[in-house]
Amino acid sequence: MAKVQNRSTKNDPVLEALPLACADEGAAVAFMEKQRWGDHPGCPRCGDVDVYQMKDSTTGERQVNYRWRCLGCKKQFTVRTGTVFEDSRIELRHWCYAFWRAATSKKGVSALEIHRQTGISYKSSLFVLQRIRFAMDGSMPGPLSGPVEADETYVGGKPRHRLVGKGARAEWFAKKPAVLAIVERGGRVRTGVVADVTAKTLGDALRENVNPEASTLFTDELMGYRRIGKKFAGGHHTTTHSKGEYVRGDAHSNTVEGFFSTVKRGLNGIYHAVSKEHLHRYLCEFEFRYNHRYMDDGDRTCAAIKASEGKRLTYEKSKASQEAYGAEG
Ligand SMILES: [Zn+2]
Repeated sequence: MAKVQNRSTKNDPVLEALPLACADEGAAVAFMEKQRWGDHPGCPRCGDVDVYQMKDSTTGERQVNYRWRCLGCKKQFTVRTGTVFEDSRIELRHWCYAFWRAATSKKGVSALEIHRQTGISYKSSLFVLQRIRFAMDGSMPGPLSGPVEADETYVGGKPRHRLVGKGARAEWFAKKPAVLAIVERGGRVRTGVVADVTAKTLGDALRENVNPEASTLFTDELMGYRRIGKKFAGGHHTTTHSKGEYVRGDAHSNTVEGFFSTVKRGLNGIYHAVSKEHLHRYLCEFEFRYNHRYMDDGDRTCAAIKASEGKRLTYEKSKASQEAYGAEG
């Protein structure tokens, strides 16, 4: 897989279509329909391809609500049906813009920026971005394997005043959520907010996300990884950061640390104060961009839009209303 750099937008149908889709509602609907169904629209409810666009009887133009009718189940639908934007009244052109920005801005995009650039309210911008993060959740499933690096970090701002003494530092860190990231070298990343960094918690997380029989584990010297490390067929290799050792041949955790530095730049620079309850959603966004880093911007935007399908129902279970109105800084 080659890294895409400075690719021209010429001849890229997605990047050519996006600016118009962000400005005009009809173009946005056509764009979303194209991403979702290609040249073969199908009913999102029953899967029938015997569908047609509903037209205004006097003008012969598409109806203002861009409805389709399915001859299979006799029901109407739109490109929103069965997606994370189904129950939203926000115009699709603003969704297009937010998808584009969220999929392509390395550090993420803030609700304030979406609010300023689209004119939708700040609250709506938060809602749109939280739904997009939900769509991005669960990209690249399946157990990780090969050389994998695991590391943990504490996120959420800097202390307001100097912390004097071990006790004060420990107390301050205890309030900050710990994030675990596991990265396949050259491959996927998986992240999660963890309650603590004990052997039990780290072991459970690694067992859930990695196939140890096909993997080698690389971590720093943290005790919590030792027990689970013994289960890895390729062994467990550590570097002793406390003694200034960061790389010893293959043994390093530079990949996962690189991922964390992007996350921290984003969380500190763009999102300022992400609460503990919403942190996992923000992590999904960084995870998604990392997992699709070899794609160009247009393809990554389409992948995010595609991922919003089929998420509608499960969203209800994840406390939609609470999640949707998280706060940023
Ligand atoms: Zn149908």
